[in-house]
Amino acid sequence: METTIYYFTGTGNSLKIAKSISEGLNDCELVPIAKIWEDDHLLSHSEKVGFVFPLYYAGLPKIVYDFLSKIDLAKTNYFFAVVTYAGDINTTPLNQINSILNDKSKSLSAGFYLLMPNNYVISYDVHSESRQKEFFREAEKKIENIITTIKQSETNLEEGFFDKRRVKSEKFNEDFRLNVHGTDKSFYSEDSCTSCEICVKVCPVNNIVMVENRPQWQHKCQQCLACINFCPEECIQFGKKTLKTKRYHHPEIEVNDLINQKP
Ligand code: SF4
Ligand code: SF4
Repeated sequence: METTIYYFTGTGNSLKIAKSISEGLNDCELVPIAKIWEDDHLLSHSEKVGFVFPLYYAGLPKIVYDFLSKIDLAKTNYFFAVVTYAGDINTTPLNQINSILNDKSKSLSAGFYLLMPNNYVISYDVHSESRQKEFFREAEKKIENIITTIKQSETNLEEGFFDKRRVKSEKFNEDFRLNVHGTDKSFYSEDSCTSCEICVKVCPVNNIVMVENRPQWQHKCQQCLACINFCPEECIQFGKKTLKTKRYHHPEIEVNDLINQKP
């Protein structure tokens, strides 16, 4: 393959972006990070490698950080990253990737941020459908530029890449990655649960098991929020906040797409 895109997705925003970029490139494969990240020997053979994932706590999701630290990228010389986000953004995730690549004697060539609808329903409500559609339209336009940049192996990291705010944000993200596994203690299901097991199926790290026909979270959570957003009964809650927030997943991404990213 000329290009490999490694992606991580919880509610489909990053998967939709990864698919769109892949379709615009020649000879490109999509590889789900959740399917392979625990393998002992991770190696990429592609000339170009990209990473598509959501922003978590101002930086990389833990699973993406751990995967990047492990994978052997010696055969690749062009790297790009696309970060989906719904709120505040700074340069931390791209700098984190660049630092990890530097440790492998490589560097990031191109990085992009794409504004997508909010899915972090444990803190913020979802955007209206009309606003969501605006985000999708804007993203499609940006994707055309991203594809051109990758095809021509261009670099684009000059402006604002070395933002001083990132030092503070890196600590914020590091603390998140240290503690994220146990954050699922706030999840519970309400009595309207129908035992359909969709939450079990969509969890990318198999963190949910059914006990007496109700989901139980096993404290190896990545906080992707697939379970709470894909539950058809909207009966998963995270503390009290989600009693008032709606649910979101990308309209073109289905439960089966989430199942397909699992080991
Ligand atoms: S997805 Fe919702 S309804 Fe289905 S088992 Fe999980 S909590 Fe219950
Ligand atoms: S338990 Fe829910 S939030 Fe945690 S990793 Fe699984 S699907 Fe994502």
